[in-house]
Amino acid sequence: NNHSVYIGRFAPSPTGPLHLGSLYTALASYLDARAHGGLWRLRIDDLDTPRNVKGADDAILRCLERFDLHWDGEVYYQSRQLDHYDEVLSQLRQQHWLYACHCSRKTLGTATVYPGVCREAGYPFDDSSAWRLKTQDIFIEFDDALQGLVRQNLARDQGDFIVRRRDQIIAYQFAVVVDDEQQGVNHVVRGADLLDSTPKQIYQQGLLAYPQPHYLHLPLIVDEHGNKLSKQTLAAPVDDAHPGATVYTLLVMLKQNPPSFLQNAPIPEQLAWAVAHWQPQNLGRIRAIESPRSGLPG
Ligand code: GLU
Repeated sequence: NNHSVYIGRFAPSPTGPLHLGSLYTALASYLDARAHGGLWRLRIDDLDTPRNVKGADDAILRCLERFDLHWDGEVYYQSRQLDHYDEVLSQLRQQHWLYACHCSRKTLGTATVYPGVCREAGYPFDDSSAWRLKTQDIFIEFDDALQGLVRQNLARDQGDFIVRRRDQIIAYQFAVVVDDEQQGVNHVVRGADLLDSTPKQIYQQGLLAYPQPHYLHLPLIVDEHGNKLSKQTLAAPVDDAHPGATVYTLLVMLKQNPPSFLQNAPIPEQLAWAVAHWQPQNLGRIRAIESPRSGLPG
């Protein structure tokens, strides 16, 4: 029965080479999939074209291979799914879930919840507008495998959100819902920076009658100032000269208590041990952990 097969994924954005934080997410989602006897799919989140870096997608694939993190099936590129997003957007439009919005960052000021200015304006869905999805004054709730119960009132806490940007780029919040459905993903393991986005995604899955995946949000690796390690903050790319040592470090960071004899073992052996002993609960209900600083490979 197909529905019982675990399907997980890793979905990096090709904005630069993988850094320790992204490899940590890749490894955790890989281990969770393999520990469940599941598939691990790879998606390149390349819709935000101004942020893409040429060659970063290939560098990411090579890096994953270097770390023996082998994915199942073809690589899925968001940029090859544009027709599909349009189709689903038309469907939502026909059902009156969308409206065109002409608000700019300037007019919205510091408001974090969209006040609904354009909701009843009836602007045409042209290329000079952003398209927003109507939210409802209801609670969205889900039980995260690590973070526990998450509850959010979308209308109150988020407001109507953008699914297609004014520059015509499909918004991550919407694309991810279509992609996870397209790829048959039923288990999402990713960083806790996306915990706040998950209710929006679950809401859209409901509108589109897509099945809802299980979620596990990992503590985020942050620097000593509490900032997420990201390509934007110029976190160093992983040093793949000593990939075995890096995998060991990551297993320590994932609180898997790897035995010391694994430290110098070949990566396949380390991964086999980690799959057999995978205990994500060891991470606890924690949203952020500080990156080990010096003496770290990568
Ligand atoms: N591409 C997103 C990122 O790099 C991850 C999306 C997801 O896992 O849902 O942060």
